[in-house]
Amino acid sequence: MIKAYAAFEADGKIQPFEYELGLLATHEVDIAIEHCGICHSDLSMLHNDWGITQYPFVPGHEIIGTIAAKGAHVHNFQLGQRVGLGWHAGYCMTCHSCMSGDHNLCAQAESTIVNRYGGFADRVRANAASVVALPDNINTQTAGPLFCAGITVFNPLLQFDIQPTAKVAVIGIGGLGHIALQFLKAWGCRVTVFTSSDDKKKEALALGAHKVLNTYNPAELGAARNQFDLILSTVNVKLDWNAYIATLRPKGRLHF
Ligand SMILES: [Zn+2]
Ligand SMILES: [Zn+2]
Repeated sequence: MIKAYAAFEADGKIQPFEYELGLLATHEVDIAIEHCGICHSDLSMLHNDWGITQYPFVPGHEIIGTIAAKGAHVHNFQLGQRVGLGWHAGYCMTCHSCMSGDHNLCAQAESTIVNRYGGFADRVRANAASVVALPDNINTQTAGPLFCAGITVFNPLLQFDIQPTAKVAVIGIGGLGHIALQFLKAWGCRVTVFTSSDDKKKEALALGAHKVLNTYNPAELGAARNQFDLILSTVNVKLDWNAYIATLRPKGRLHF
């Protein structure tokens, strides 16, 4: 019996909930969960904002744990191995996207918390293809967000071929932004943070920002004209895009 926490209706309180996992398929693994992050999509699902939530709803898709069971066809994990699981818990493994290595674009991809029970539990099941091996010495308490907020802000660095010489601005320094800032800093980029909160200025500088601009001050935004190779927006609000786009550096081609 799996011990989990579930909401039983939209906006419902998260309460203890038990369920049976049933038989393990040959390509699946069970993960004994050590830690699980909380993401805004967990809240969107809890509120049924997207109209796809089924109750009882078990949130949690930033999962860190160890392999507790594996199906007969799973050869790439050992029992006890430390792993992570994010938004996707399975792929069709036959479509063009899957066969090209772009599993995240699979039209049949299954979400860890849609029609499945997520990581606010002592165990979660997933197709082995969606599970990621982790080093044993990773900090299991803080690694969870790498699997949703982390990959979301890391992906653009590769997609846009961002070089260590690039100047990048990050809008917002919350769950996604504070990870983006640290990735960019480690990547070697010069990082500017746009924030509307003076409280976060200190925090952003401590995390490695070279510069922090207060977006409530039009003069600060105006002074940043023609500077950035990329702006990573991590805020879910309407912005004065013309003012931000003016801070991008004109470019003759996409690759630097
Ligand atoms: Zn998420
Ligand atoms: Zn597929």
